[in-house]
Amino acid sequence: MECDKCGREAVMHAAYSGLHLCERHFCGSVDKRVRRRIREDGLLSPEATPDDPETWVIGLSGGKDSVVLTHILAETFGRDPRVELVALSIHEGIEGYRDASLDASEELTAELDIDHEIVTYAEEFDLRMDDVAASDPEGMAPCAYCGVFRRDVLERYAEALDADKLLTGHNLDDEAQTALMNFFSGDLKQMAKHFDASLGPFPDRAESDRFVPRAKPLRDVPEKEVALYAHLNDLPAHITECPHASEAYRGEIQRLLLDVEESHPGTRHSILAGYEELAELAAIRYRDDDGEEFGECDRCGAPTARDLCRKCYLVEAVHEA
Ligand SMILES: [Zn+2]
Ligand SMILES: [Zn+2]
Repeated sequence: MECDKCGREAVMHAAYSGLHLCERHFCGSVDKRVRRRIREDGLLSPEATPDDPETWVIGLSGGKDSVVLTHILAETFGRDPRVELVALSIHEGIEGYRDASLDASEELTAELDIDHEIVTYAEEFDLRMDDVAASDPEGMAPCAYCGVFRRDVLERYAEALDADKLLTGHNLDDEAQTALMNFFSGDLKQMAKHFDASLGPFPDRAESDRFVPRAKPLRDVPEKEVALYAHLNDLPAHITECPHASEAYRGEIQRLLLDVEESHPGTRHSILAGYEELAELAAIRYRDDDGEEFGECDRCGAPTARDLCRKCYLVEAVHEA
């Protein structure tokens, strides 16, 4: 097959667009989609100047998604004085696996010449995911603990690093899966949260002190294309899956989505587009609905409806196990 743009040999065919693209035009199309997403989301505040730049913290796991995102951001904004990029990696205490992906992250950030911070669960919570997976005091999937701890670390460090935005490498498949999972659960409040946390028009910098806004600039790019981009650009991505990964329900949704996508190309894109509109409506619906009374966590002061926030509760359960 030949590239539809230049006639060179195609490296990929996207059923949802019908396009065959060569290496150069494929990589260019990924760059273009990410930059367009950043522009359309209004990620870069018009108030950012070389004297008062924005800080963007990138969650860098060392896997293909966050590696590709970091690469494109560094290429696009590395010399832009209005933006400072900082990569943030988390060591969960997973023997072998995380050490290899941290090596990839170190190599990438050195190559791109951007700051790199590493945080460990051992230092933050005095625990390691290998031990959590073994003891499992709450009878949950390891990912359920890890997700709570990760969110806590990302949010606290984004704050500590004075971040204006927290960027993560979620791709189109991740986001379409989450959309379906939220939709299937019928939980409109969860959709509203999703919208408020990451999709809304970004608030004025002065008003954004409630939480660091999240952004997902890779969410138009299918997972397979992210992997191909990492491979073609020879990026140091660590591709092994986490040994504790066991999100059974997400796996089910993933297979379902890939099946439908196969017979109806473009389904992931339309799910995400519709979901974002729905989430916006849900956010408006629940915006003035205070609902639960929030107090403060006895241990860390985080807002919670109980004595302890979820994170402190889980940390305690693990220590007592
Ligand atoms: Zn071409
Ligand atoms: Zn707490």
